[in-house]
Amino acid sequence: MTLAVIDQYRLERKDLFVDIDNVVSLSMERVRRWQGSKKAYTAAEVIQDKPVPGAADALRRLRTDYFIRFLTARGSYEDPFNVTQTWLDLNGFEYDELLVVDGPEAKVAHLSTQSILVDDFTLGHEKEDAFTGN
Ligand SMILES: [Mg+2]
Repeated sequence: MTLAVIDQYRLERKDLFVDIDNVVSLSMERVRRWQGSKKAYTAAEVIQDKPVPGAADALRRLRTDYFIRFLTARGSYEDPFNVTQTWLDLNGFEYDELLVVDGPEAKVAHLSTQSILVDDFTLGHEKEDAFTGN
């Protein structure tokens, strides 16, 4: 009986996995300001990131059809889960789950062939050409 209830709940909406850095947060500005040094990943710096304009409203609307599951690789961040949760709350994001993993490869464990993922897939944010990875 319990299993059937859980299954019905899961079928209500599909999963929408959403990255945080450079998708809903303008975090590249911080990383460049500190040239990728450890200071860029301290709680005091991360909490000041500006949100992408309109992102919270867009996800709030999408939440009627999807479970919003934030999936972020923040292994190099100070106290990543708590800082990220606080930042999301401060900036008005509504969501169903926050998954904080160590590195980009660890994101894959949470995805299936049915998953929808919004992710910028960039590395080296301190560099001018971070988007191309060159
Ligand atoms: Mg990202």
